Amino acid sequence: MVIVLYKQSVYNSYVKHGDDIFLWNSYSGAIAKIGNEEMKFLQDPNVASQSAVILLPIMIKNGFIVSSGTDEYADYVAMIERNYSDPIRKSLYYVIAPTLACNYKCVYCFENNRDIYDSMSQKTSEDVEKYILFNLSKTYGIKHLHINWFGGEPLLCPDTIQKLSTALITACQKQDIIYNASIVTNGRYLSQENAEMLSMHKVSKVQISFDGTENIYCERKRASSEDYHITLENIVTAADIIKNIVIRINIVQNNFDDAYRLAEILLNHYKLDGKISLYLAYTNEGSQEERVKNHLNFIQGEQKFIKLFGTKYNHNSYHYKSVNPKLSTCGLVRDDQFCIGPRGELYKCEHHFGIKNYIVGDIY
Ligand code: SF4
Repeated sequence: MVIVLYKQSVYNSYVKHGDDIFLWNSYSGAIAKIGNEEMKFLQDPNVASQSAVILLPIMIKNGFIVSSGTDEYADYVAMIERNYSDPIRKSLYYVIAPTLACNYKCVYCFENNRDIYDSMSQKTSEDVEKYILFNLSKTYGIKHLHINWFGGEPLLCPDTIQKLSTALITACQKQDIIYNASIVTNGRYLSQENAEMLSMHKVSKVQISFDGTENIYCERKRASSEDYHITLENIVTAADIIKNIVIRINIVQNNFDDAYRLAEILLNHYKLDGKISLYLAYTNEGSQEERVKNHLNFIQGEQKFIKLFGTKYNHNSYHYKSVNPKLSTCGLVRDDQFCIGPRGELYKCEHHFGIKNYIVGDIY
């Protein structure tokens, strides 16, 4: 008879909240409230008992307990490597920048001092279409194509988005492939017309970066007061057209009070509570040492912000972080997924857009 022994998963984390203890497995994503019985069992899952008979299959199913011979880390690495280059895949993902130009000049923009600021020509847009369709046809089993429109400011080129989307949507329909898209924009040109165009072309998620209330917004984005107010009005209009509008509030110098004021303006004054969601984002500025310190401060400030926010606004109005496992750092680590620049040049990260040294090839 073979006796199987068990051990706790290396991915288990215990979190104390008030008098309660929660167990979270960062690999399976399972989360459970742990009582005395469960705790006793987890400390030594190989001790036979009545409760062990009930708990063992549940704990195994949720990944809290694994057989003692399992090398979870090796399993994880193998899974990631398979994910990088598996020729059989269900989805393809591209980030497309129809332009690297922008109407703003944000002080923190990673696209300042780039080598390329072009917009995509009609000819390149047609070549991008051919490139993506070729990749769809040569990849076995594709069921889903996702495009993320990026920039510069992508809404400076609505015609490119419209034409390329139409071509890709038509091709996907013929091949029974589900098409959907998202866009990252500063929102200044998210007019009713553009919001309707995006919605018609299956853009189901719009992410807009905001830097704070008027003074901070104008200072950080080098924008005018008119830009600020038009962008706010655009968000209100777009919220009736596109369901998933996410506002990313960039936190600068721990100014959580201003983020809270912006939340009030959007959710209270403009009555968008429950219609849009927002989240706080850390901005990577300063020296390495400063970044580590600032990030820790950011996490603490964010927790306080969320607590306060939760007492006042709809649960859906905050884009809460998921406890689900993130099994890949980014979809673009796959060897067949790229960011496509306006000249048809390819990058492996959207933060590399416009830097010649980071170009890894082109669509040709
Ligand atoms: S809006 Fe975005 S792309 Fe434009 S300058 Fe600001 S950060 Fe850069």
